[in-house]
Amino acid sequence: MRLVLLGPPGAGKGTQGDRLIERHGITRLSTGDMLRAAVKAGTPVGLKAKDIMARGDLVPDEVVIAIIDDRLKEPDVQNGFILDGFPRTVAQAEALDKLLAAKGIRLNAVVELKVNEGALLKRIETRIAEMTARGEQVRADDNPEALKKRLDAYRVQTAPLSAYYGKKGTLLEIDGMLPIDDVSGVIEAKLKALS
Ligand code: ADP
Repeated sequence: MRLVLLGPPGAGKGTQGDRLIERHGITRLSTGDMLRAAVKAGTPVGLKAKDIMARGDLVPDEVVIAIIDDRLKEPDVQNGFILDGFPRTVAQAEALDKLLAAKGIRLNAVVELKVNEGALLKRIETRIAEMTARGEQVRADDNPEALKKRLDAYRVQTAPLSAYYGKKGTLLEIDGMLPIDDVSGVIEAKLKALS
């Protein structure tokens, strides 16, 4: 199974992604996690991405495309994968199409979690408060200013992917406002209907 998980910050991609990888035995490829690891390790990519990410802006397409290109060559993704946080622009989606075509594989589905913006802000505020209460370190971009930019970037650069994949017929639109278990149930039902 090869999936893309699409949705704004706070939509529940982390939670639903965890369940999908467990249920289907596939590997998660999160560009956000990979970039944060690069920042932490101080690699050339990390140095380039650090300030951009902290502001809530998108890292240049060529940087993330190169990361995904490398990652798709590794053995653990050959059984299937879920892309989380990639593609985030139409240029990235086109690059992904080319990478997959070169391997002779295609996506089974793009799972889009739809949540309204008021709820997103509230969810992220709650997440920040809970992490702080537990004494955990909050992400550099989990502050109101960067969050606004991340939502803007989603609306302007990423939301058009919904139409892009809709035209290809691979889009599964999911109501992300439902309780967590219901969201998982709807995703599984729709994936089952595909096969
Ligand atoms: P969220 O979905 O909560 O905003 P992510 O962990 O997916 O968080 O991404 C965090 C940041 O990493 C983004 O705001 C952006 O700066 C960078 N990033 C992650 N994936 C991409 C991508 N595909 N293209 C460009 N930038 C990306």
